[in-house]
Amino acid sequence: MAFSLLSRTSANSLRKVATPIGFRSLPVLRQYSSANTACEESEPNFLQCVEQFFDKAAGVSGVSSNTLAAIKRVDAILSVSFPVETDEGKEEIIRGYRAQHSHHRLPVKGGIRYADDVDMQEVEALASLMTYKCAVVDVPFGGAKGGVAIDPKKYTPAQLERITRRFTMELCQKNFIGPGIDVPAPDVGTGPREMSWIMDTYRQFNPSDVNSMGCVTGKPISQGGVRGRNEATGLGVYYGVREFMKFPEVQKKTGLSGKMEGTRVIIQGFGNVGYWAAKFFEADGAKIVGIAERDCAAYDENGLNIDKLLEYKQKNGTFRDYGCQIIEDPIKVMEMDCDVLIPAALERQIGLKNVKNIKAKIIGEAANGPITPGAHEALVESGKVVIPDLLLNAGGVCVSYFEWLKNLSHIRFGRMNKKWDELGKSQILKLVEENAGRKLTESERRNVIHGAEEHELVYSGLEDTMINACEETRATANELKTCYRTAAITNAIRKIATVQEGSGSLFTNRG
Ligand code: NAD
Repeated sequence: MAFSLLSRTSANSLRKVATPIGFRSLPVLRQYSSANTACEESEPNFLQCVEQFFDKAAGVSGVSSNTLAAIKRVDAILSVSFPVETDEGKEEIIRGYRAQHSHHRLPVKGGIRYADDVDMQEVEALASLMTYKCAVVDVPFGGAKGGVAIDPKKYTPAQLERITRRFTMELCQKNFIGPGIDVPAPDVGTGPREMSWIMDTYRQFNPSDVNSMGCVTGKPISQGGVRGRNEATGLGVYYGVREFMKFPEVQKKTGLSGKMEGTRVIIQGFGNVGYWAAKFFEADGAKIVGIAERDCAAYDENGLNIDKLLEYKQKNGTFRDYGCQIIEDPIKVMEMDCDVLIPAALERQIGLKNVKNIKAKIIGEAANGPITPGAHEALVESGKVVIPDLLLNAGGVCVSYFEWLKNLSHIRFGRMNKKWDELGKSQILKLVEENAGRKLTESERRNVIHGAEEHELVYSGLEDTMINACEETRATANELKTCYRTAAITNAIRKIATVQEGSGSLFTNRG
């Protein structure tokens, strides 16, 4: 494994000394919480879940134990605490984390989460998943993840800006951010606004970095973002489920026809990923019969209108009193009858405690880690199809990669070739019209010669990526006669191993 960024020793020492001079230093605790779960307390925590899934795939991957050990461990960890002033003029200490799981490719990449129960094990788990996810969809990055332990709803925009800028300052000082080092993105509780604050702060520390826009992705379009990033994860979820529904072995297992029209879908979480997944399923004819949020769930056997529901939720802060059935205990909606269940909120939502109640035929993991290993085994044994997170929610990092490429090339996709493509197509069309003896109408002509816009190129790149990754996962599952999760992680391990072993930097004495 290459150590071009930080040695493991210096990374470990950062665990202890990550607080900058001039600010109060707090001891760094490795608190491994199990909050926000639907599963038994006796089940593994999130990091242990990811490690158990990895171990299972490692066992069938055919990769050497030295390489496996190097892939599994986290390369560098940063834990910081810093003060911010509250509205009452008091000082509050905020905890922030960043884990860089694998430097086998640089930069490392992964979101930053704002949630009050964020801790180091969660960030390590998510960083590991990012490494495997990037490999599964051939995005040439290592994995990373960050988190700030706050409930963003309890802070004003001005306070959130101060917290975000201050956390970014910590990342800059510790060399944990940069277009060639570590590139954050949005996750739970963060979005384009936070990403633009991150970029602006990074630029203040690195005014001469010509590639500074590439230090973070998921930015607003006006700040160097790419069209399509906002909806990318939800769109990737839709593409992935659509592909799996086409596989004959999935149709045989589930009894589903493979057509999206009329497919009954339930979604947990109506945030960025849940909303966009719902939108794309709905647009292709699926019926979104249930959506769970923190406080309650909306249910309508005839299908919910996604944009109306969003408008209502944004206005009222809840689904309550929206014209549909309201289910008070939101986790219960996941247990209702449907074809496809999409957990798109948090980790460990389906555990041993509730897995026996899950009726969906396909469970598509839009969230990271929503199913524990015990529950996953039970689902697979009962003939259900689980499409794993590292494959299904990879649309976000895939389009983040496109955004990073756009930032490094300093040009919008399509700018150089759009008119050229249109000219070439209209010349061919002219010849065809002359031979066919019929002229196209103006709207037919526009459709045929239309050169691709940036968002069309992004959608097309994402669709192609998801189709290939689903097909590769399916092929390995069939080859090894294993579940799709083990197959996807095995593919990731094999790809990472070729880079690591090829570099030779860690394995100078291997035979
Ligand atoms: P988000 O903050 O935009 O949305 C999460 C939603 O889930 C919120 O509306 C929240 O109220 C809801 N929620 C929280 N707890 C819940 C509960 N117990 N029951 C029902 N709803 C609950 O976050 P997001 O970006 O949509 O991320 C959702 C999941 O997808 C996370 O696991 C995240 O790591 C994963 N993910 C996100 C991206 C991305 O691009 N944003 C990419 C890959 C994976």
